[in-house]
Amino acid sequence: MSTNPRSRKRSHWIDIMFIVSIILLSSLTAFLLFVPSPSEKESKVSASHSPKAQEEVSESDSVYPGIRIITETSNDIDTPFAIQYPQSDVPSFNKIVKGYTQNLKTLYLEDTKYFSETKKHTKSELNISFEVFQHTSGYYSFVIHSRMYTGGANGISETKIIHLHNQSGHMLTIEDLLAKNEQSLEKLSAKVRKAITSDKQLSPYLLLEQFDEKTSPKWGNFSNFVLNKNSLDFYYDEYEIASGAAGATTISIPLSDLDDILADEYKLPVGKGDSTPPNNVPEKQTSVETETPKDEVTKTPSSGKVVALTFDDGPNPETTRKILETLKKYNAKATFFMLGSRVSFYPEVVKEIKEAGHELGNHTWTHSDLTKATVGKIASEINNTSNAIEKASGSKPTVFRPPYGAVNKTVRSQSPLPVILWDVDTLDWKYKDAKHLLEHVKTHVKDGSIVLMHDIHASTADGLDAVLAYLQSEGYTFVTVSELKK
Ligand code: ZN
Repeated sequence: MSTNPRSRKRSHWIDIMFIVSIILLSSLTAFLLFVPSPSEKESKVSASHSPKAQEEVSESDSVYPGIRIITETSNDIDTPFAIQYPQSDVPSFNKIVKGYTQNLKTLYLEDTKYFSETKKHTKSELNISFEVFQHTSGYYSFVIHSRMYTGGANGISETKIIHLHNQSGHMLTIEDLLAKNEQSLEKLSAKVRKAITSDKQLSPYLLLEQFDEKTSPKWGNFSNFVLNKNSLDFYYDEYEIASGAAGATTISIPLSDLDDILADEYKLPVGKGDSTPPNNVPEKQTSVETETPKDEVTKTPSSGKVVALTFDDGPNPETTRKILETLKKYNAKATFFMLGSRVSFYPEVVKEIKEAGHELGNHTWTHSDLTKATVGKIASEINNTSNAIEKASGSKPTVFRPPYGAVNKTVRSQSPLPVILWDVDTLDWKYKDAKHLLEHVKTHVKDGSIVLMHDIHASTADGLDAVLAYLQSEGYTFVTVSELKK
């Protein structure tokens, strides 16, 4: 009995100590989130994207056996690029693909340098991505898309298609596909011409001279093809056969129409057209997409935990839109800290973000370290971006995140908006890996976290579904940063 009062007293003290430390910890967290100390700022600068130009190369396996994906990115403000290309077990194929992408990269860097020296430079961008199609014959068709803008009048878009049988190492050509007789090329040319002129969407925009030349019976004219289960598809870039209004085009010719000119092994199997396994698998098909059915979303009981997901450095049409779709699927609201320079390129994406009910955030115009900028420059970086966001969406942004989390008294004094940092840095820009994104979130997120991601990376867009599924299963509600602060 004599020990009871003492132990009660001790437990009472432990309670008080516990409450005091909770209060201290919460205040410290709030302080770190919204008012970082100089050392905090430094650690965030080194942990996040460095203010210096930065080039990264990473390699990852794909869902296609024997095919690896190489990703090269640079967040250099003057010459940003994102390049993805396939590599295989076949050295000759690897050399061709790598050579192709590196040539484009060199051209891009030289062009940008030329335009910046002649002061015509605005904003440069290079994007190379690819799709994979797999045929039952064992051939992969790699469709490599590139888009380059270096300050000239128009951007350049280009598609190159390369075929590979990874086991044999053979690179399929259009000559291999056709029966070995003199008429097959002539006949192919005639069939492609007929398919193009009878395409009602395309025919009004045909540039006749280019069309005649690009469909004439020369093997080189038909190298951009994809062999599909039931059709042979030819890809044409913008301006290749038609004016800009038609854009890039694909002409699809049913294999049944080509039966008389195809080599035997590529002919449609008689009577088996529908029983062959599917061979046209889009590259970015992932199983996580279907993990959480839509109707479960509203049924999940909330335990009261909240998390604010934030996406920086966009907007970017493809990846931002994919992220918007995923957020919608989970009825999740998020905050997008956008760059004015990109807002001016893709105003319609900003509008879509706003209309979906997400919070609009300002991330400066050029993504520069504002602690090294003059007062005038800080003000114009912030204000021009706010104006661009308002022009695009009809609403002003409500929060501000300085690039690199770099903030000081001067920066704060110039920002009419609350400064928002983060406590969970997913480092998605560094790992570019959907699995890593989920693992990082699993180990770091807690109630009230602000999670930093970047909506410009395909890996983030791909990995978000699994992240939301996980957080939702843990009872989290997704709020904007302003809702979190309420
Ligand atoms: Zn940023």
